[in-house]
Amino acid sequence: MLLSPADRAGSTGSSGGVLTVDLGAIQRNYRRLVAQAGGAAVAGVVKADAYGLGVERVAPALLEAGCRTFFVAHLTEALALRPLLPDGAELFVLNGLLPGDERLCAESGIRPVLNSLEQVAAWSALGLSLGRRLPAAIQVDSGMSRVGLAPQEVEALASDPARLAGVETVLVMSHLACADEPDHPANAAQLAAFETLAARLPAARRSLANSAGLFLDARFRFDLARPGIALYGGAPNAVRPNPMEPVVRLEARVIQTREVPARAGIGYGFSVVADRPMRLATLSVGYADGWLRSASNRGAVAFQGRRLPIVGRVSMDSIIVEAGEAALAPGDLVDLIGPEASLDAAAEAAGTISYEILTALGHRYERRYLSANKGDRP
Ligand SMILES: *Cc1c(COP(=O)(O)O)cnc(C)c1O
Repeated sequence: MLLSPADRAGSTGSSGGVLTVDLGAIQRNYRRLVAQAGGAAVAGVVKADAYGLGVERVAPALLEAGCRTFFVAHLTEALALRPLLPDGAELFVLNGLLPGDERLCAESGIRPVLNSLEQVAAWSALGLSLGRRLPAAIQVDSGMSRVGLAPQEVEALASDPARLAGVETVLVMSHLACADEPDHPANAAQLAAFETLAARLPAARRSLANSAGLFLDARFRFDLARPGIALYGGAPNAVRPNPMEPVVRLEARVIQTREVPARAGIGYGFSVVADRPMRLATLSVGYADGWLRSASNRGAVAFQGRRLPIVGRVSMDSIIVEAGEAALAPGDLVDLIGPEASLDAAAEAAGTISYEILTALGHRYERRYLSANKGDRP
């Protein structure tokens, strides 16, 4: 019997690529971070659809691993996630509250991260009108200049506690700008600023560390760590070997192979002209799938232990690689990210960071989830 290309590749469809997310690996990474955190609790940062991997699958896996605190960036993300979480789990919105969203946030059992005095005032006013203190985190700016209360705003709260009359401050937090560079002097400066600012606010749990911050010294851990990328297998910093287990495999399908003579132009703009006869393979993934155009002529894919370099520009729907002697045929799958092509290496080749690779992953892939317990492919 003749097998169709899709059958050969063991696939049910003809998607350009297959994105496999190992939920068990996310759970093991979570437990690894819990161990790293010493006694501190560990939240799961699941903003941007769990860094592109699918929050509706990732959040339940984290719950099963013991995670009880979640962070997203937007209220809309929180509204979608809240029904998937049990009542006992807390869910924070990092980007804070836009004017007019307070009631919806409170009624939905979602905790805002209050980032300005205006947000504090609006949340407190709602609490007072409802006759109860509404839980929230307060973020202080310990030096990153992005979001959070500036030192003089913290002082304004400290000198007028009535401004927080309708707020139950359940967390005081800040964010590190340079934690992935462990020796950067900003880390110690932000730590000191955070401690000073937090001391002026109501007593509450404290949180400073993201993934990278968890791998600084123990003083950065406080009560709650907020890792994102490390859960998903990204390196917490570039100075030590990545201690996290890979979570993502991304395979691209071969659509054609061809032999080209010396002096053949390859891809848009002829950014490469063959200097010898070459065997090429064209893959059915492009920048519309989040395989960034900046990986043109830089990245590589892996197939059966071989590294096949990307030649020419990444197109919208395809990439050309030099296949050499590899036994590739249409329908085969090659690894863009896999055991021999790490997420961090792919990011490096594209001149970016693992975060951008993951959150850029497009919607055309066939998605497979290795379920936490069984290791099957539902
Ligand atoms: C995104 C984010 C995190 C998670 O950061 P990672 O580097 O992915 O661990 C934690 N805290 C805040 C405020 C964030 O914006």
